[in-house]
Amino acid sequence: MNFSEKLYKIGEASSLLGVHPNTIRRWEREGKIKIVRIGGGHRRIPASEITRLMRKEAQISPVSSETDYEKGLRAFLDFVFTHCKNDHELVKRAIFVRDGYRCRICGSSEDLALKEKDPGLGIIEGNLMTICRKCSEFKEVSEKKEILEEKIEEQEKITRKKILNDLSPSGIAQRVAFGEILSAALVLNKFSLKELVVQSKSPEPLVRTFCERMEALGYLQKTESGYEIKIKVVE
Ligand SMILES: [Zn+2]
Repeated sequence: MNFSEKLYKIGEASSLLGVHPNTIRRWEREGKIKIVRIGGGHRRIPASEITRLMRKEAQISPVSSETDYEKGLRAFLDFVFTHCKNDHELVKRAIFVRDGYRCRICGSSEDLALKEKDPGLGIIEGNLMTICRKCSEFKEVSEKKEILEEKIEEQEKITRKKILNDLSPSGIAQRVAFGEILSAALVLNKFSLKELVVQSKSPEPLVRTFCERMEALGYLQKTESGYEIKIKVVE
């Protein structure tokens, strides 16, 4: 893999590939998929692995029960995706035929369009699906909501320890002092520099440094009357 490529969570990969998340975990044990580990032992699947499996899935040899129609369709799809990938109209037609001119989500046959499951993965048969306009709009809204929920979830994992590390104090004494100012700031939530000095019983220059670094980290936001805490801290 190259280091700039997009990484997918197991849940994202499973919905792109149309398999259960447990199948992906099994593939990892069986050595059928390359998974990378990021911080905290979390597993991520590189985009190159998703596209490789999408291609492989499309090329699985026909089973004996496959009808002539299905064999013909498979040959047509293979031809289109091997030789005419850049012919958008033809690709669209091929996917519509494969999906029986029905929206893959609701089954409607009206207002159909071609949808890339993930625009980053490009024109691969497994990445394309027929979808109606209504489902497409609904899907975009729910995807945005998912991303937002994920961000909130990440935000909720911020601990005091993480904040104190991020503030990069010069030594133990400063770390302890920052800890006291942080406690005071969390109690006040919204405050002016003076109020924080009073509440934390700390020298003003140190409180100022604290606020500047917190603001640079995005943990604190400047308001008209002072500052406001922008994060939820778990103990
Ligand atoms: Zn639909």
